[in-house]
Amino acid sequence: MPNSTSRTIFSNDGRILFFGLQDFLDSIVIGNNCFICGAAPSSTPFNNEHVIPDWLLRKFNLYKNTINLPNETQIRYSQYTVPCCSSCNSKLGLVYEEPISRLLNSSSDIVASRLSQDKDLVNLVFKWMSLIFFKTHLKDNSLLAERDRRLQSGFIGDIYNWQEFHHTHCIIRSHYTKAVIEPDVYGTLLLFPALTIEGRTGFDYFDNHASQSVMLQCGDFYLVTILNDSSMSYEIFKEDLHRINGPITPFQAREILAHLGFINLSLADRPKYISKFSPKNEYRITANLPSKITLKAPSESDLTPGKFLHYSVKNMIDVENKDQILQEILEGKRNYLFNEEGKFINHENNSY
Ligand SMILES: [Zn+2]
Repeated sequence: MPNSTSRTIFSNDGRILFFGLQDFLDSIVIGNNCFICGAAPSSTPFNNEHVIPDWLLRKFNLYKNTINLPNETQIRYSQYTVPCCSSCNSKLGLVYEEPISRLLNSSSDIVASRLSQDKDLVNLVFKWMSLIFFKTHLKDNSLLAERDRRLQSGFIGDIYNWQEFHHTHCIIRSHYTKAVIEPDVYGTLLLFPALTIEGRTGFDYFDNHASQSVMLQCGDFYLVTILNDSSMSYEIFKEDLHRINGPITPFQAREILAHLGFINLSLADRPKYISKFSPKNEYRITANLPSKITLKAPSESDLTPGKFLHYSVKNMIDVENKDQILQEILEGKRNYLFNEEGKFINHENNSY
């Protein structure tokens, strides 16, 4: 019953089915091997994989745009790539990007309707969100933590606990390993209509690596995902989510993510994910779930939803009393989703 510290397991035809943690760190995290099959760049042709898929870059005219990195520098989307061999790159296009682009190029209502009828499609979108999250953080290994090289502060990715990414790595390459993913493994995946805001591209991405929470706006909807909660965060927060009865703003999307991320990191008993192999090397990814969902007592943790929300919006607020607003968010005295009566704050008919 391998776990993240086990040895690497090969298929009968020589493919790496399961990276032991040390091999994962050496060849994928630190090394420049193909992040799907593990091939070395010297052994096969490489053409690097865009972190944000090519069809999204084209759809939202992002090729010349830049993204803001945690070190406050900017990088062009076109240069935002991770090492991938040509064969795996083509396969990623067929397995993920072709069906996902067909789905997500539709309007919010159609996407919601198709997802409600097709569990396999929901699972594919979940894996695709996991893929973007993984590539984003893999890229951080080659980006300096501080712009000033004299500081020798290392790379942005150095602060991550890469063991926590190991499970996500098993998920995103399951098409290559033919792993069967059991239903309990899949985390929270939600879709919300997005408010159209003049002057914005319709594309938005934000994640938090500690809580493995990811949001992506694609035109008139947001996808919100928690990668390693086996949907437990949703179970805790669903009554609040059901009060949301209109399109959401970028601030509201981040607040939803903040609540779910907070809940995920506050779970008293976390799901445990295990890679299992039959004697014939058939691969299953399973989840051991606690019998009851419980959260840590507030005294056991210094996390609050306000801290998550503060982290998510601190670079988006640009007004004179910014410091005061951020302090109120930090203290949980200000929010974007619900008014004092607990009703959803709907901006649909206001100028935003
Ligand atoms: Zn490859």
